Amino acid sequence: MTLRSASPEETRAIGERLAPLLDAGDVLLLSGELGAGKTTFVQGLARGLGYDGSVSSKSFVIMGEYAGRVRLYHADLYRLEDAEQVWELGLEEISRDGVLVVEWPERAPEILPEEHLMVHFQVVSEDSRELSLEPRGARAEEIAAAMSQAVSG
Ligand code: ADP
Ligand code: MG
Repeated sequence: MTLRSASPEETRAIGERLAPLLDAGDVLLLSGELGAGKTTFVQGLARGLGYDGSVSSKSFVIMGEYAGRVRLYHADLYRLEDAEQVWELGLEEISRDGVLVVEWPERAPEILPEEHLMVHFQVVSEDSRELSLEPRGARAEEIAAAMSQAVSG
């Protein structure tokens, strides 16, 4: 499924729409170039989960944690130097007790959960983005199908 966004707020709204469909144990991987809107999307996701603080880019701190209906763990692997650091973050354990969302999964594809919902962000023009949902595994398929229904109805 591909969604079009015409503004940062619209990208947040897509994240907010996805939030109620998520539960502890779900994993979202956000791919796409710098400035494509991944962090903007996480802001909407956090809002949709009932977290009302701010969500920032994690340039130095790799992991952020936001307490809402379900705990949201936000990892940005952009500055990751080697895959071993990801093990140290304990991503696997985290993905059981909350929703895990990972920016720059390309940095460590081999150690991220095999079953996940990939959201690929593409820059179309200055304010326009395309978000493609690519589910891996039965649970991710279920989320993508529910999202498809949510946006069409
Ligand atoms: P990333 O995390 O992918 O590097 P960010 O979310 O931090 O990207 O930044 C996206 C940038 O693009 C912001 O400056 C935002 O204002 C801008 N932008 C413009 N249009 C959009 C859109 N439709 N969706 C998301 N961001 C957009
Ligand atoms: Mg970012």
